[in-house]
Amino acid sequence: MFSLETANIERAITNAKALHPKVKMIEFGTYEVTGNKGNTYTVKCYRKAGEKIVECNCATRAGVACKHGLAAVSLHIALAARRGH
Ligand SMILES: [Zn+2]
Repeated sequence: MFSLETANIERAITNAKALHPKVKMIEFGTYEVTGNKGNTYTVKCYRKAGEKIVECNCATRAGVACKHGLAAVSLHIALAARRGH
């Protein structure tokens, strides 16, 4: 789990761009991300106390942005903007 406000997301953005993980929406705020080895992760995106929180069930430690989380949150932000949130 990491916050878009506090995590260092630059490296994860670079990784996400290089690997193009596939993101599938389960429902608004919940996404399934397929990694480069075909493994899938569930990512949840939500707001808590004004921060954008991203929760991924991969092994990346708390507070560190992972590429799955960023791939999912970029779709989430695009969808949220379309919905007018
Ligand atoms: Zn992850």
